[in-house]
Amino acid sequence: MQDLLEDIAARALGAEDRGKVADYIPELAKVDPNQLGISVATADGELFSAGNAQTPFSIQSISKVFVLALALGQVGEALWKRVGREPSGQAFDSILLLEREKGIPRNPFINAGALVTTDTFLGSASPREALGALIRFIRAASDQEDIHINDAVARSELETAHRNFALAHYMRSYGNLQNSPDLVLGTYCHQCAIEMTCEQLALAGRFLLDTSDAPSLVSPVRKRRINALMMTCGHYDGSGDFAFRVGLPGKSGVGGGILVIAPGRGSVAVWSPGLNGYGNSKLGTEAMEVFARKTGWSIFG
Ligand code: GLN
Repeated sequence: MQDLLEDIAARALGAEDRGKVADYIPELAKVDPNQLGISVATADGELFSAGNAQTPFSIQSISKVFVLALALGQVGEALWKRVGREPSGQAFDSILLLEREKGIPRNPFINAGALVTTDTFLGSASPREALGALIRFIRAASDQEDIHINDAVARSELETAHRNFALAHYMRSYGNLQNSPDLVLGTYCHQCAIEMTCEQLALAGRFLLDTSDAPSLVSPVRKRRINALMMTCGHYDGSGDFAFRVGLPGKSGVGGGILVIAPGRGSVAVWSPGLNGYGNSKLGTEAMEVFARKTGWSIFG
């Protein structure tokens, strides 16, 4: 495993096309694209890493996985009245389907759907309380204390979050947001600005493993369902492509991170800031493709 990860990281260093770093959040545009880290936390508790696996990065939409787990913990199946479970086939920040589908987003991993899960998780708490509970959940899942929100990134996104505000107001007009768009966006931008290293993220992902050694923060049924949504919706309109190339549930973020769950085997985090046309890490996806091929880890046997 160690040799494989080092080989993957070394190969990435030589890549000519590294994709394009997200620049619509000004603070993210400053990140050096010449980085790739990869970590594997196995089901039985081993940790392997290579490349820039100890460098903290902005987890962005990967936070949607943790918030979904918490929102389900709070309201259970009632969540599905407010958000669907189908891939959208649209970009992560698209507003297109919301009008046709009357303010009910397709799934919890596109931005509109994540605003609903954040609103649900927020409930009647303050953003500070909700974010505190989210950080505690991630620290418990990973057994790592040193996980924080980068306020500069949160502020940078909040100042430029015009599309996300549009989505929030649109859903609020349909009654599908309980809190004000200001409160929901304030919380959402801070959850996206959580920083983690590949090692911390791979460890945190173990809460979605189905083995007895994994942290038991959610029920087995819920783990299966969150994994199913990651498989079908975790990479936006690139979800089919990721499933085809990697064959494992994954969730990407525009910070360049990807969390991948190999049921029964382990949790993998890869990070490289340059993105492909879908807004998913370009080298991260390629690294996962090689990883899955070489290890044979797949949900398809
Ligand atoms: N914070 C980002 C946004 O809402 C998250 C998007 C992403 O990671 N794909 O635009």
